[in-house]
Amino acid sequence: MTAQDVMIRVTLPDGSVREYPKGSTGLEIAAQISEGLARNVLAAKVNGVVQDATRPIDTDATVQLLTWNDPEGKATFWHSSAHLLAEALESLYPGVKFGIGPAIETGFYYDVDLNGQHFSQDDFRKVEDKMLELARQKNAYVRKPVGKADAIAYFEEKGDPYKIDLLQGLEDGSITFYTQGGFTDLCRGPHIPNTGFIKAARLMNVAGAYWRGDEKNKMLTRIYAVTFPKQKELDDYLHLLEEAKKRDHRKLGKELDLFAFSEKVGQGLPLWLPKGALVRERLENFLRRAQVRAGYQPVVTPHIGSKQLYVTSGHWEKYGKDSFQPIHTPDEDEEFLLKPMNCPHHCEIYKTKPRSYRDLPLRLAEFGTVYRYEQSGELHGLTRVRGFTQDDAHIFCRPDQVKDEFMKVIDLVLYVFKSLGFNDYSAQVSLRDPENREKYIGSDELWERAESAIIEAAAEKGLTTVMELGEAAFYGPKLDFMVRDALGRKWQLGTIQVDYNLPNRFELEYVGADNQKHRPVMIHRAPFGSMERFIAILIENTAGNFPLWLSPDQIAILPISEKYEDYANDLFFALQEHDIRGFVDLRDEKIGRKIRDAEVNKVPYMLIVGEKEQADGTISVRRKGGAATGQGGDLGSMSVDAFVALFQQEVKL
Ligand SMILES: [Zn+2]
Ligand SMILES: [Zn+2]
Repeated sequence: MTAQDVMIRVTLPDGSVREYPKGSTGLEIAAQISEGLARNVLAAKVNGVVQDATRPIDTDATVQLLTWNDPEGKATFWHSSAHLLAEALESLYPGVKFGIGPAIETGFYYDVDLNGQHFSQDDFRKVEDKMLELARQKNAYVRKPVGKADAIAYFEEKGDPYKIDLLQGLEDGSITFYTQGGFTDLCRGPHIPNTGFIKAARLMNVAGAYWRGDEKNKMLTRIYAVTFPKQKELDDYLHLLEEAKKRDHRKLGKELDLFAFSEKVGQGLPLWLPKGALVRERLENFLRRAQVRAGYQPVVTPHIGSKQLYVTSGHWEKYGKDSFQPIHTPDEDEEFLLKPMNCPHHCEIYKTKPRSYRDLPLRLAEFGTVYRYEQSGELHGLTRVRGFTQDDAHIFCRPDQVKDEFMKVIDLVLYVFKSLGFNDYSAQVSLRDPENREKYIGSDELWERAESAIIEAAAEKGLTTVMELGEAAFYGPKLDFMVRDALGRKWQLGTIQVDYNLPNRFELEYVGADNQKHRPVMIHRAPFGSMERFIAILIENTAGNFPLWLSPDQIAILPISEKYEDYANDLFFALQEHDIRGFVDLRDEKIGRKIRDAEVNKVPYMLIVGEKEQADGTISVRRKGGAATGQGGDLGSMSVDAFVALFQQEVKL
């Protein structure tokens, strides 16, 4: 025997290569690296395929040991927990039959047929306790290949029609059973080494679900649950859910009088109330100013466009059937569509006159309101609506300008993030699938140039990026920003998209230095995405404590009694002169109550005036505390000028 017969070469993620005896498992490899790693390994990714950490590796391979911190490790943990849930259910509900039990984004579920036995939230605790009792037995998940006939016989004997239904669709020779403790399930795996890794379990919800999603089939009970390797992680998770509920923009939007919906106006069509409209206006003005500095020119286009416009853009053919249907004029029977996107209008603006290479880049910006049909079940607060306003712009440029324009847009997006407190962000570059080039329009040369321009621009701006091959649209590569909010949730915000399609369809041209006609490249970009969705995210990120410059009411003037109303009103007008907005609380309420209400309404500054303040011409200042500022509490008495200076300094931050 030679060394090749008994040893395998394993390449680890850091690029190092080590030799191990043939048949070593992921767990054994982990143990040789460190004891801590061995304790935490949930599964092994061997040559790109996730498998049990207890399975032998027989050939040279790249091996990544997956822990709770890897999405695939987590998914393996949760899917294995579904088996544990099933085991617990089987011991508590005799005769229970099982459908499928996959991991989902936050936890897992199992679809079960409880044989008519009652199950509700009141039963959750009992099941959780049983799961943990079984977990403490540290039962291994044991894999066993099994022939199809034997597998069917097993579930016939057990009386589980759903597993037999699943088995019908599987090929003999590819079927495996997994057993932990006294419970055996049909599954291709992978699973964690043993149940002892599961230290905390919580059932979250119970719902009905048709077998195989078909309403002709029996309705099963879908039990949602989540598990963790530490009790503290479950506590943190539940706290996060609580916090997310408190910050839900639909709830805060109502409490803070920002926006509303009316059935009479129509589903998914937000009504901006005065305070919400103020926030929105300030955001728009903030971006308008930044865009002027970055060389954008504002344009305005109508809310509808002729159907022909969207036939040209390709939109009608692709989305026409699933969009709001055309509006007909009474006499000429012309057809118009509610504008689903601003780009075709902007292409027509480009075409209003001949363009030369010296005119480019041309950057046209519009807060353009668009309308898209979303099914009513899909609508959600401000994040999924039927009418919304994009902070849209289209840059028409020469191919050699793509990189520069990307750098400038990245600067603008990062300026927006910084100004609004989103400091944790990353970017995804979506590239062409190199195996499938015919799927995309535009020449190879253009694609290669644009893709490397985006990658270089992102690198030069120091962005943390991931590259996704095959994720580009058929008409061009793009760069998407992801931000992480105060609760650690990820949101996609800000897209920069190259487009070779619309310039072709609209036959856009410019005259080059060579006096020949050339086609410009179009870049779509929207740092906020839409005003609606962005404000929803902002509300949830700040829990409604907007930065001072965005707060609808920046100050509340609180007279201690009606004797000081005149002084309060004079103060109000004096501050208005400095663009400081708010209100005077003239209610016949105790000062404590007025302060509490201002706090609840998230007013940043409370200006309290009474006898002493009136006599001295001063104000007593309170700053609302909050994560946004860190400061808070009583700032003491100061002159009006001193307050204005303090205010203006914070607004500038
Ligand atoms: Zn499984
Ligand atoms: Zn566009």
